Amino acid sequence: MHPERWVQVRPEGLYVVPGDFYVDPIRGVARAVVTHGHSDHSRAGHQAVLATAETLAIARARLGEGAGVAQQAAAYGEVIRVGEVDVTLLPAGHVLGSAQVLMEHKGGRIVVSGDYKRRADPTCTPFEPVHCDVFVTEATFGLPVFRHPPVQDELRRLLHSVELFPERCHVVGAYTLGKAQRLIAELRLAGWDKPIFVHGALAQMNEVYRACGIDLGELRPATAGVKGEPRKELEGAIVVAPPSAIADRWARRLPDPVICQASGWMRVKQRAKQGGIELPLVISDHADWDELLQTLDDVAAPKVWITHGREEALQYAARAKGYEAEALRLVGYDEEGA
Ligand SMILES: [Zn+2]
Repeated sequence: MHPERWVQVRPEGLYVVPGDFYVDPIRGVARAVVTHGHSDHSRAGHQAVLATAETLAIARARLGEGAGVAQQAAAYGEVIRVGEVDVTLLPAGHVLGSAQVLMEHKGGRIVVSGDYKRRADPTCTPFEPVHCDVFVTEATFGLPVFRHPPVQDELRRLLHSVELFPERCHVVGAYTLGKAQRLIAELRLAGWDKPIFVHGALAQMNEVYRACGIDLGELRPATAGVKGEPRKELEGAIVVAPPSAIADRWARRLPDPVICQASGWMRVKQRAKQGGIELPLVISDHADWDELLQTLDDVAAPKVWITHGREEALQYAARAKGYEAEALRLVGYDEEGA
């Protein structure tokens, strides 16, 4: 039976009728399948939650008791029967534990990809394309202008700047869940083996990543010295902080900080300039334009449903490729960790 006959858009989100559950509902529901731990997908107040063990660990750290009364962990590839639907979580390559949701019912197959990317990421399992009748995709960077450079090129620019200004501190704004840990892990791969200093708001998520086996190397708290004086050891250091902190008084206590930000939005020069970003780093955990189109071909679904982002351009491009594409206009998803 074709998924368009058993999957509905409701105010709470995508509802799967024969399984009586929602995927990433935007408010508390009786039964939810959650793709990943970002707060726009993983909300508080569900009765039963099915997700990967990592996503559940992230939800418990973020939401405490709100993480779900009954929590069921599924491994990637494990088939779990929910009502009359076979549910399989598959890697999405977005952040630790992120999953696509494959749902099969009476011969029909639909994949809800959540957020995803196709680039290698040392902190999560790579995206796994599977064929389906309907592919539900995001379109955060669904415009041809968004093409993310290799992450190694961006890190080289950062490390070059660190070398040029050994007395200055480089503070990089990176989203608290996912981007910050990936940035740290990528810096380790690029050979940066000195301690990395982190803002207090990142500590909890760093611990979740560590507990899940992700090696982040030596991390130290980026607190100011006594009486708020800049600390000597922060000269020449790399500090990672939430994007909200880099424009804040907090960052001004660092020794002559070079303000950097790691985000797909840094492709837009105006956006970097407005945010006072001296060194923009185009590093994203979402698929860029080429990855979105490549993924449509890889999953080869005749029907494509687009959830959020720049729907029109992707819809147009998908139709030009011969796919039937519709924008679902789901509300409630923002662009966290982009
Ligand atoms: Zn996300």
